[in-house]
Amino acid sequence: MTGGATGLGQLALGQRADGPLLLTGRWVIHDSPQGRRLIEHGEVVITGGQVTFVGRDYPGEVAGRVDMGMSLISPGLIDLDALSDLDTTILGIDHQPGWAKGRVWPRSYLERGPYEMYSPEELAFQKRFAFAQLLQSGITTAAPIASLFYRQWGETAAEFDAAVDAAADLGLRVYLSPAYRAGGMVLEAPGEMRPVFDEARGLQGLKDAVGFIRRHDGSHGGLVRGLLAPDRVETCTGELLRRTFAAAEELDCPVRLHMAQGQMELDTVRALHGCTAPQWLAGMGLLGPRLIAPHATCATPEDLARYAQNGVSIVHCPLVSGRHGAMLNSFGELRSMGINIAMGTDTAPPDMLLNLLVGLIGAHVKGPQHQTPTRDLWDAATIGGGDALGR
Ligand SMILES: [Zn+2]
Repeated sequence: MTGGATGLGQLALGQRADGPLLLTGRWVIHDSPQGRRLIEHGEVVITGGQVTFVGRDYPGEVAGRVDMGMSLISPGLIDLDALSDLDTTILGIDHQPGWAKGRVWPRSYLERGPYEMYSPEELAFQKRFAFAQLLQSGITTAAPIASLFYRQWGETAAEFDAAVDAAADLGLRVYLSPAYRAGGMVLEAPGEMRPVFDEARGLQGLKDAVGFIRRHDGSHGGLVRGLLAPDRVETCTGELLRRTFAAAEELDCPVRLHMAQGQMELDTVRALHGCTAPQWLAGMGLLGPRLIAPHATCATPEDLARYAQNGVSIVHCPLVSGRHGAMLNSFGELRSMGINIAMGTDTAPPDMLLNLLVGLIGAHVKGPQHQTPTRDLWDAATIGGGDALGR
């Protein structure tokens, strides 16, 4: 059958056309074997879950046509640090120093017993709402993340079961499993933060995450994939990390671990292990292409060399990093070292275009302007994310 022109409104969220669907737009980005090209008044044909044609004058029959008008049709943006709850780090823009801003557990709260501050319904709604906002920002693939400050300990399989349903309903590609940790930071006295550990709880969290991935990996036509998400590096023990990477090997999935992202982490990891976090992981033989490590703004030149040697991907979140006075040093330099850079929005609401703009500004402030063209930021938000996920 040959479809007539249809409007955008006739596309149903989360549903694929019944045959090849042809999109037209003023500009189309084409990844050809010769590299990335811009086509004016281009066409894109999507068949099932695959892009089957990019160019002009598609010769085949189609099930439907959608004219996107004065728009740019691009590969979907990939967000590997996609915040799915409130962004309370906004409270920390003012109210410094960091420990005084109310975003850390005091000892008295820990002893009284941390509790879940959201109901199961609220947790399910958070993901659904966040996923819809990601799609509105042009993001079609996401690895969600949320703060563990408002939780009893880690995330639960139940809320991620609900997240799988939301992703399938909306048609968002997701890489996920509940985040877990073996410890947390506690404020002992003004300015004095120390980690407290409960490794058994962390190992149980890993077990739950592995079970979740076994249940859901590849479901909904491959839309849902597994990713292990131990929370920030300073709240992990060596044993938890060793078992995490062994599980990732078995499941053939990536691991996201926040690392080289701030002074508190640097101080804590140095006190515990006598080195930086990337150095600690390198010593355990855990750096490798499975590792996706936001944010790298505090990475030393030696840490960056370790990332480059071991094929570690970083997640660059310039809007959020910049808000706290940090920036990659520098985007262009990391690229020239051969480090794969993916992008993350890391705040709510997500705005990847603003994020890329701040990234471009930060790159030009930190490094020579010629080193970072706009194209490289766009590549990070598409190809870089895809490479990090092994797609
Ligand atoms: Zn982050």
